[in-house]
Amino acid sequence: MTPPLVDVIYPILADYYPPDQAFLTHRNAYELLIAVILSAQCTDDRVNQVTPALFDAYPTPEALAEAPLDAIKDRIRSINFFNNKAKNIQATARRLLANFGGNVPDTLDAMVQLPGVGRKTANVVLSQWFKQPGIAVDTHVARVSRRLGFHGDMDPVRIEHRLKANWPKSLWSHLSTLLIFHGRTFCLSRKPLCQTCILAEHCPSESVC
Ligand code: SF4
Repeated sequence: MTPPLVDVIYPILADYYPPDQAFLTHRNAYELLIAVILSAQCTDDRVNQVTPALFDAYPTPEALAEAPLDAIKDRIRSINFFNNKAKNIQATARRLLANFGGNVPDTLDAMVQLPGVGRKTANVVLSQWFKQPGIAVDTHVARVSRRLGFHGDMDPVRIEHRLKANWPKSLWSHLSTLLIFHGRTFCLSRKPLCQTCILAEHCPSESVC
């Protein structure tokens, strides 16, 4: 399956979807990091409903590190896996204080040492806050790029490396964001809307969906 040319699909997507924007509400790197940890297997809308009050209560890593764990759980109870996520965000806050002076580190190697932080979470923070080129392979990026023929893989790490090898570095962050929009709009998981899709004429999967 031959993928379409990036320089063909990128302008189509960039014209259609809103300018680069964050899906998760945040005011600083700490808030973005915590929001992305909470967003695993949860909708961004749900996370955005919870985080304003959470960050009002715990506006810094210090405040989150010192909070009673049960109080954190209560504040994020409507998010799935809230028990583990409460432990992870508190452990992450404590690790930020212990190892990074209370700041969010700006390298992938350092960030993946934090509890609950994998490559996807790290890449979101690095690209959205630190403006470093990155590809955060979430379920949408993995599925849409697979259907477009950029890879035939299911493993997020291999997909990330494959896309990085094939996309211009200057487009990594924005193109992956655009694929998230596209996965939510046309290239839906169960019933992709190929008949009306803006990429249909360039997509090698269009005839089989
Ligand atoms: S044509 Fe279908 S499979 Fe291809 S990108 Fe569009 S919705 Fe997805």
